[in-house]
Amino acid sequence: MSKTSRFSGKRLTLAVLAMSSVAALGVVLAAVFAPYVSAELNPWLEPHQIVDPAPARIAKGRMVGDYFAVEDVGGGVFAIGEPRYYQRNYAYLIIGQERALLFDSGSGTRDISGVVAGLTRLPVTVMASHLHYDHLGGIAPFAHVAMIDLPQTRADVSRGLFRAGRYEYLGLIDHLAPPPVKVGEWLAPGAVIDLGGRSLTVLNTPGHTPTSAALWDAAGHRLFIGDYIYPTTLYAFLPGASLSAYHHTARRLLTTLPADTVLWTAHCCRKGEGVAAPWLSMRDLRDLDAALTRVARGQARPTGFYPRIYPVNRQMTLATGFGWNNR
Ligand SMILES: [Zn+2]
Repeated sequence: MSKTSRFSGKRLTLAVLAMSSVAALGVVLAAVFAPYVSAELNPWLEPHQIVDPAPARIAKGRMVGDYFAVEDVGGGVFAIGEPRYYQRNYAYLIIGQERALLFDSGSGTRDISGVVAGLTRLPVTVMASHLHYDHLGGIAPFAHVAMIDLPQTRADVSRGLFRAGRYEYLGLIDHLAPPPVKVGEWLAPGAVIDLGGRSLTVLNTPGHTPTSAALWDAAGHRLFIGDYIYPTTLYAFLPGASLSAYHHTARRLLTTLPADTVLWTAHCCRKGEGVAAPWLSMRDLRDLDAALTRVARGQARPTGFYPRIYPVNRQMTLATGFGWNNR
């Protein structure tokens, strides 16, 4: 072997070593930052149509125009759904004697405010269950916005305007920028919203996101719960999601809420019931609590690599990240 070939052989070995170290470092970083990496890669890994071009087929309620579904769920509450939107979101218009509250603003794919105006003439306050784009995206047309009062949400205010962070909003999945929001009312956990003749208690329900909110209508035996729980697959692997927070919230709700509370959730659909306002019961919450216990004890076996999917019950599965970034 000549001197030059020994030299270039050494260089080749060094280059291979350097390249494999970079690759290994990349794998480690991708694993550590998996929630962020998966959100960033989502538009390429899971390309999707935003609106189904086919007419909506709803099992309950009526269509308003060709996009929104409106369902009277009783007790002065209307569910407003987006059955053609790929995430099938449902917002809730809760009507009091003096004002109304819209819980979630819709995805913003179409303007929901005309539908709301067709259902009530009362002044409307909008509050998002959490900051993800499919719940806050439709906020722009509304003048009065309420926000859960937490250090993390206060930190998003700059020059009088609230703007959710990139990984709080997650609009990057559909190339959407977080909207600037003028918050008119800050509601701390435990605050009571008086709509006239009915009141709602604000709860902080971390798990899906740290700043998730739920509204408890104690007299109506209802909890408007956003994305903490809903039929289909629960997302506990996105940036900010936490399995221990999920578990803690489940325990707290199970000890606080009466057993006959109906959970009105933000994503359709219940198995076997077609497209309709998605609800669950306290029994489903108990099943979620049990599933979270099994996951924490290592007694459940997931399918998939990222996210990992665990069974919960007939209505739900739970999608989590890796143990080290999803605590
Ligand atoms: Zn959602």
